[in-house]
Amino acid sequence: MDKIIIVGAGLSGATVARLFADSGMDVTVVDKRATIGGNAYDYVDKNGITVQPYGPHIFHTKEKEVFDFLSKFTEWNAYEHKVLANVKGKLIPVPFNLTSLYACFSKSKAERIYNVLTKEVGENKQVSILSLKEHKNAEIRDFADFVYNNIFYKYTRKQWKMKPEDLGEAVMSRVPVYVSYEDRYFTDDYQFMPKKGFTEMITNMLRHPHIRLKLDTDAERIFSFEDGKIYLEGKEFDGIVVYTGRVEEIFGYKFGALPYRTLKFKFKTFDRTSFQKAAVVNYTTSHKFTRITEFTKFTCEPKDKTVIVKEYSKKCKKTDMPYYPVPTEKNCNLYEKYKTEAAKYKKLYLLGRLADYKYINMDAAVLNAMKMHKKIMKENVFED
Ligand code: FAD
Ligand code: UDP
Repeated sequence: MDKIIIVGAGLSGATVARLFADSGMDVTVVDKRATIGGNAYDYVDKNGITVQPYGPHIFHTKEKEVFDFLSKFTEWNAYEHKVLANVKGKLIPVPFNLTSLYACFSKSKAERIYNVLTKEVGENKQVSILSLKEHKNAEIRDFADFVYNNIFYKYTRKQWKMKPEDLGEAVMSRVPVYVSYEDRYFTDDYQFMPKKGFTEMITNMLRHPHIRLKLDTDAERIFSFEDGKIYLEGKEFDGIVVYTGRVEEIFGYKFGALPYRTLKFKFKTFDRTSFQKAAVVNYTTSHKFTRITEFTKFTCEPKDKTVIVKEYSKKCKKTDMPYYPVPTEKNCNLYEKYKTEAAKYKKLYLLGRLADYKYINMDAAVLNAMKMHKKIMKENVFED
């Protein structure tokens, strides 16, 4: 093993590994899975369709630095993500926009709402549903209640078993209301899908003479953390560990498990070219699943078959895959206890969606890994 060990071959681990390797340093990356890419992993199925077994992943970022870095490892297909909501059988754009407004109300009522929205919120603005619900203008509050009930309430209950207001802005502002005809899910400057998929991109990141990759290797089995000292296979290890797994694992869950939501995926292949009108349809008023994704719509390649996945959310047990951290105050306080514990280990660095217990997108995973690489380089002296 090298003096720098990275636990996790997801996007966070792969980014930091590549940056060390490019600085001329040897790194070992271990992952307990048999595959790389973490939750961004994808594969081509027997019909030539790229499938994402851990749910739909669409790349988007405002950060040129992130886009430029990833562009070294993949070519891209331009892809702007559009989502429809199935509201009591009617398909309307989500984020809720002016098209949605005119689809849901009579022309005269929609016009009245439009006028008050542009006056009070502003033309072309994006606004969170929680702030609209608290607006001083009663007509806006009525409109917000409609959007809340038809777009946010049931979907959020299915996804989180919580009310939108209890989840707070950090999650709810991911999907705003648009006072415009904008119909893209994201408004970032860079919106692309890797031409040959995320696995291929991350494989290229990890393909480097300074990187050794060990799959099917669980950190829980090879590391132990005791009294500020790190042990690797029973011997004291004085190198660096960048850890992108669950932070509780390192400390034997001694303060309890951090709550997560997990997903059950139901895949189906159809003998037809198209299943639904958009790549993703959110079921915001009905059904037990939250959304249906149709993968062929991401790749822009016409196929004679199509693959869909339905997502069912549930509480995460210890044996389930932890997908979404639940960012309540109580859970964040519990996380802080683990973070304080981790700070006793000078050469242990926590990184990524699990170790940071943060609901982050892929671009933030890459950006945080870039910052982490700089921090580790600054805090340590490396021999040639
Ligand atoms: P992960 O991908 O979770 O990787 C962590 C890795 O560590 C895993 O490979 C795991 O096996 C390994 N590991 C954990 N514990 C151990 C251990 N003890 N020993 C060894 N290895 C271990 N982001 C977007 O930008 N766009 C999207 O459209 C999008 N959609 C998403 C949809 C879903 C359903 C989910 C769950 C996430 C989505 N994301 C999306 C977020 C994206 O998946 C993450 O931001 C990104 O993958 C985080 O990468 P990571 O490396 O931090 O974590
Ligand atoms: N959300 C909702 N209705 C929608 C879309 C999103 O209520 O039609 C809420 C829901 O709580 C969801 C959150 O907004 O978990 C974030 O949505 P996003 O699409 O960003 O979720 P992700 O793709 O990360 O699962």
